[in-house]
Formats: sequence, C-alpha cells, structure tokens
Amino acid sequence: MKIEKNKVVSIHYTLKSEKGEVLDSSEGKSPLPYIHGTGQLIPGLEKELEGKQKGTEQSVVISPADAYGEYNKESVFEVGKDGFQGEEELTVGLQVQVDTGNGQAIANVTKIEGDKVTLDLNHPLAGATLHFDIKIEDVRDATAEELDHGHSHGEGGHQH
Ligand code: ZN
Repeated sequence: MKIEKNKVVSIHYTLKSEKGEVLDSSEGKSPLPYIHGTGQLIPGLEKELEGKQKGTEQSVVISPADAYGEYNKESVFEVGKDGFQGEEELTVGLQVQVDTGNGQAIANVTKIEGDKVTLDLNHPLAGATLHFDIKIEDVRDATAEELDHGHSHGEGGHQH
C-alpha cells in the first residue's frame, strides 16, 4: 500500500541539524503515527513520503521553506520585565504565551538584560535546514472515525 492522502502512516525518524546534532528521534519509542495529507507533518516531509511504501528507509534534507519557515527578524521584540508579573521566574529558553494583538502566540525568551526581556516568536527551528532519517513502519487506511477526529488512534495515537 502506497502512502497517499488519508492513509495512517507510522514512521521512525531521527531529526538532525546541519551539523549532525540529533534534535529529536523516535528511537526507543513507538513509531510516530500521522494521517498523511492533513498537515500533521511539515510539508517537505509529507512530499518526500508521498507514494512510498512500508519498509522504505531514506535520508532526506528539507529546506526551511518546506519545514518551519524562514527566520523572521520582525518576530523578535523587547518588552519590559514588569509585563510578566506573577508568572514563574523568567529564564532564557522559557516559553511564554503572549498576546500579539492578532491572537495568542508562543514566544521563546532569548535574552534577559536588566529589566528588558527579548522575545522571539519564530519557531525554534525556523531558518534551519533539517536532515531526517526515516523508516516507514506501517501504512494503512484511516478509519472514518480517525478522519472525523483528524488524528490516528491505536498504538502511538490518541487514546480515548
Ligand atoms: Zn480520536
């Protein structure tokens, strides 16, 4: 069975940076299940997996535009520490929820200097070229219920 829209696909993956540093991996866990063609994976990965079959192993390189987007300097801004009253102690690397005026978003605290806090709304992997080692563990039809819920059930999927 080939991977196409609305198949439930389970993959083992290891994600590495351009320097070869492992950023994430399914090793030692169940394979990651997702419903193909529904935007659950980054676009570049879905493109590479399209048409492949169970058992396929491959290494793929995905450009930022097909992954988490280009790094946008406009999405970095400074705010006063006093805007964070009552929250847990601010540290670099903390993720905070901010109101952008356009809805809520997650920002990373990237710098703290005096009472100035630098927030970055870019995804931590924005601008990064990603290297994936992938193995396709399973391909099957999604059930009507899975398509209705928009996620997979069973091993590694949603339990409810
Ligand atoms: Zn469900």
